[in-house]
Amino acid sequence: MNRSPVLATPARWLRLDISRAMIAAVLGAALLAGCSAAGNSSTPSGPHGDADAIDVVASTTVLADLVRQVGGSHVNVASLVPPGGEVHTFDPTPADIARVADADLVVMNGLGLDEWVADLATASGSEAPVLRLGEEIGNATDNPHLWMDVRNATRYAIRLGDELSRVDAANAASYDDQAGAYTERLTELDTWAREQLAAIPAERRKVVSFHDALPSFAEAYGLDIVGTIVDAPGQDPSAGEIAGLIDAIRASGATALFGEAQFNPELAQTIAEEAGITVVTDLYTDSLGDAPADTYEGMIRSDVEKVVEALRA
Ligand SMILES: [Zn+2]
Repeated sequence: MNRSPVLATPARWLRLDISRAMIAAVLGAALLAGCSAAGNSSTPSGPHGDADAIDVVASTTVLADLVRQVGGSHVNVASLVPPGGEVHTFDPTPADIARVADADLVVMNGLGLDEWVADLATASGSEAPVLRLGEEIGNATDNPHLWMDVRNATRYAIRLGDELSRVDAANAASYDDQAGAYTERLTELDTWAREQLAAIPAERRKVVSFHDALPSFAEAYGLDIVGTIVDAPGQDPSAGEIAGLIDAIRASGATALFGEAQFNPELAQTIAEEAGITVVTDLYTDSLGDAPADTYEGMIRSDVEKVVEALRA
């Protein structure tokens, strides 16, 4: 099954329209309230932030962590989508417009994942550069979740180091050093992940994912995605589609269903139970979680451990 991101369906476009209307509405509300974006800096300082640090806003906690690792004490970074939030269907607030208005750099993924960030940047009047990491390293037809292959996260980090050096040239040597040290750790993480998954027999590698977040992960680490439960987040399947999916899971020989922490686990649990396969409901893909999944490295380690455990069961 070759499922590229669902972008052109009427429902998807409808949601984008709603999202734009929403941004216009919250921007209007912010202006009416006399809430000047420039005078309302609510960007939280990172644990190592300092007064001279540049302000970076990222769409998700995953991208914010990459910025934090490469930027260190020279950046204050905030994620627009909170931990456990849903990037595909996120509705920005007036506070988010203020954060973007104040930012020195805006970081998003692109490829259809978080287009509302570009709308926010326009609505806020921000002149900060908007870095689309997924589009920097991928093709327009790629599934957006490229960071689920650690080698792609390494490419994101290198690109981030370049951009931070451009925006804050005084600290370019530091960004270069930190990007270098971080990408070394990511290369070790990638090797470890390959070793962990290499131990799984070929006949146990067929899996089902909740939303279409795992093509890069599967290709990198040797899984075979035989189906997804929802075409796009927010589009629940009908009873008939669920019955068809359960039949397809049984016929495919899939061994596990991977749901994700930011979605309600009940649908995944019900389908897995009916199909008689193992279910994991707390994989992290689009959002970081609590420790140990509170950094990108921790998230990947946690996911690999859960996948290996489920496929061995
Ligand atoms: Zn996603």
